[in-house]
Amino acid sequence: MLSSKENILEERSLLPSTKNYTSWPTVNNLDGDKTAIISLSHQTENRPVQLPEANAVNIMTRDCWSARETRKTDHMVTPVNFVFIHHTAMSRCYNHHDSCEEMKRIQDLHMDGRGWDDIAYNFVISEEGQVYEGRGWDRVGAHTKSWNDVAIAICIMGNFVDKEPDSAAKSTLKNLLEFGVRLGKISADYTLHGHRDVRDTACPGDKLYNFIKSLSHFDQNKPHNPKYPNQNLPV
Ligand SMILES: [Zn+2]
Repeated sequence: MLSSKENILEERSLLPSTKNYTSWPTVNNLDGDKTAIISLSHQTENRPVQLPEANAVNIMTRDCWSARETRKTDHMVTPVNFVFIHHTAMSRCYNHHDSCEEMKRIQDLHMDGRGWDDIAYNFVISEEGQVYEGRGWDRVGAHTKSWNDVAIAICIMGNFVDKEPDSAAKSTLKNLLEFGVRLGKISADYTLHGHRDVRDTACPGDKLYNFIKSLSHFDQNKPHNPKYPNQNLPV
């Protein structure tokens, strides 16, 4: 039987490549030591319980889900003033293995099917509330035509026309938005939109769209694109 500390060290050694921008959340263990705790969605019983810092977000890196190499990188100026929410209109994913497979499917679809340079979105969230790195905070995506270089896109895996995402995914979305502001990647006064606000699309589905309407930065007005003063955006 391992001590609680050894259990924790063992847990850390199993950690896949995660990008955590803040220090590890800590908690007093039974010995009174401050000990690092990690959160992994596939944690099972007899593992340390996650006691996160407020809004701490661990992001599974591209290495973690075995992303293909990007064809091209365009750097994005941050902080951005706009965030767009999407859904994949594909499968919901409830565990790490399925989510990694789904990330690869999405990337293949975007690179081979659509001919884009990489997976479209900056971040993707699974139903278990895990964030997966797409293009990350600093790269121009291919998610929202005419807005890609001035906005970050967050996508939730699943089709949300008839059903809402699970609560874990919804709370992770809120945490990731707050985290982006704390990192200085998203402006403090950003506006939040659904893909449908600027394109003729059902994305991100009625149910997910209703949820983002409840978030504080949601703006029901059509956003004004700073690159097109007359708002004559290419279609
Ligand atoms: Zn979309």
